[in-house]
Amino acid sequence: AKREGRGTFRLYEPKMDEERLARRALERDLARAVEAGELELFYQPIFDLRTDLVVGFEGLLRWRHARHGLVSPHEFIPIAEETGLIGPIGEWVIQQACHQAANWPASIKVAVNLSPVQFKTGDVMAAVTHALASSGLPAERLELEVTESTLLDAGAVGDILQQVKTLGATIALDDFGTGYASMSSLRSFPFDKIKIDQSFVQEMNSSSGSAAIVYATLDLARRLGIATTAEGVETEEQLGVLRAAGCTTAQGYLIGKPMQAEHIPSFLVQSEVH
Ligand code: C2E
Ligand code: CA
Ligand code: CA
Ligand code: CA
Repeated sequence: AKREGRGTFRLYEPKMDEERLARRALERDLARAVEAGELELFYQPIFDLRTDLVVGFEGLLRWRHARHGLVSPHEFIPIAEETGLIGPIGEWVIQQACHQAANWPASIKVAVNLSPVQFKTGDVMAAVTHALASSGLPAERLELEVTESTLLDAGAVGDILQQVKTLGATIALDDFGTGYASMSSLRSFPFDKIKIDQSFVQEMNSSSGSAAIVYATLDLARRLGIATTAEGVETEEQLGVLRAAGCTTAQGYLIGKPMQAEHIPSFLVQSEVH
């Protein structure tokens, strides 16, 4: 409403105010979400391509907002990171994942996502140690997923991850290929697994460039002696190509969508794991 003849001002400013207000409201709601019991971990199955067995689940956070319904982590994780709420939320995730996985068959692992911010503001090692001890989950059944930006941001992260590995947990490099320093990330830390980002997997059958990147990543992982998970597998065709190329595990809607913990036992029975 500042200048006549420049309609964009008039239209734009109220919208910005609305967005700011909506954002403030979300921040306030998120601050109470943990205590209000509005956060829930869904679990997506990870499938071994050599044994045809489900070998684990990745925990994926959902926020069941009283008025907005299910809010995507793409929306609220950035807010949690900027406000510092990722600390308590991230600890809740580790705790919840370990306690739920302790009820699953011993052959099934659980993976949790860690934000780079958690390494700066929280004690990841203490959170993991506490969650393992209180749940009784063997450390070997816990995998931590970090993105390469985690390694770029803070110097001590490698040491923390090494401590967690010493406990027996495994570390996966998530979203491989989407950042700026994938290769140097592999050099700077001994990951147990590479997760190939779904953008490459989904273009594999239509783009020879994406296919080349998937094949090269699988070859690289094999030479490094580390496992691979292809993310976002949606078709039998993709699964067949990945299997033939020696990918070790696959994850995606074809195998199973993220599900509530209560559905895991029947999912495992259907997929014939006992
Ligand atoms: P991500 O770790 O790369 O997780 C994979 C995402 O791909 C999930 O989205 C999953 O639902 C989705 N996905 C799985 N299979 C398919 C498929 O076949 N097709 C398609 N189109 N998508 C598929 P989601 O659950 O919305 O999570 C988005 C991102 O939010 C995650 O990406 C992760 O970066 C972050 N996130 C989720 N939970 C947590 C958490 O507990 N802590 C932190 N720090 N980040 C989290
Ligand atoms: Ca992940
Ligand atoms: Ca990923
Ligand atoms: Ca991702």
